Amino acid sequence: MSKQDLRGAALITGASSGIGATYADRLARAGHDLVLVARDAARLEALAAKLKAATGVKIDIVAADLTDRTDLAKVEARLADDASIDILINNAGAALAGSFAEQDVERVENMIQLNVVSVTRLAHAAAKAFAARDRGAIVNISSVVGLAPELQSVVYGATKAYVTYFTQALRQQLSPGVQLQAVLPGATRTEIWDRSGGGGADKLDPNMLMEVDDLVDAALAGFRQGELVTIPSLPDPVDFAAYDAARAKLLPNLSRNRPAERYRAGAPA
Ligand code: NAP
Repeated sequence: MSKQDLRGAALITGASSGIGATYADRLARAGHDLVLVARDAARLEALAAKLKAATGVKIDIVAADLTDRTDLAKVEARLADDASIDILINNAGAALAGSFAEQDVERVENMIQLNVVSVTRLAHAAAKAFAARDRGAIVNISSVVGLAPELQSVVYGATKAYVTYFTQALRQQLSPGVQLQAVLPGATRTEIWDRSGGGGADKLDPNMLMEVDDLVDAALAGFRQGELVTIPSLPDPVDFAAYDAARAKLLPNLSRNRPAERYRAGAPA
């Protein structure tokens, strides 16, 4: 996969379809053994059989619902105990169509469990294990939606803003031997568009829709270049650097011992 020539196994969540299944294909072809995680064991078995036949790598499957604490703990334990795993692709995720007030709040909570809680707990298990060996990589699949409240994907977008922030902040703490990457796909042709209840990807403007092979190949190119944040569709990385620089300019004034002039008594209303 390589920035630091990682040769170990990769654990991929959400490997039964879409972006996760494509990572599985690319990493198997690059010679990595795999641990594939998702709920649908039959799909994982079929993918594992195909990739084993094509590449000869070793592939285990773990059928797990990552919103279920017992199942999640099983995957955390695998990351903690299996020293052959060098790479976590923290990819499983779900979206939910419709306006916030109209969404089923149980499904909203389930999405937060999957997109935020499971991503955090799996990254925690991996960070601890990888930091102890001072090697490894954690790739968190976020979304451009987390940069754009205008898109009105209220909770899904917030979960993805979390994933990007989480990755950037973790970079400040984790030893440089452990590589981190947040991948921010734009609209990508996968099942998520059907599963979310918003209609399939075919309803989208084709000029805004990336094929999943292109998305994963670009994400892997960003990984090899050592990027912390990869936005596969962004033509000029200077634009994201400028965005980040504007945010960093706020830093010296975000916490001070007195309110800004405009909030003091006597300030114009
Ligand atoms: P997808 O084809 O629907 O894949 C989602 C994967 O997550 C499936 O393998 C699914 O497998 C698994 N999954 C769902 N719920 C799960 C649960 N409770 N426990 C364990 N696994 C679960 O969609 P995708 O587009 O590839 O999504 C992958 C990631 O990309 C997500 O984090 C998504 O937010 C992100 N993303 C996608 C797009 C896009 O336009 N496609 C854009 C930005 C970001 P099972 O059903 O077998 O469990």
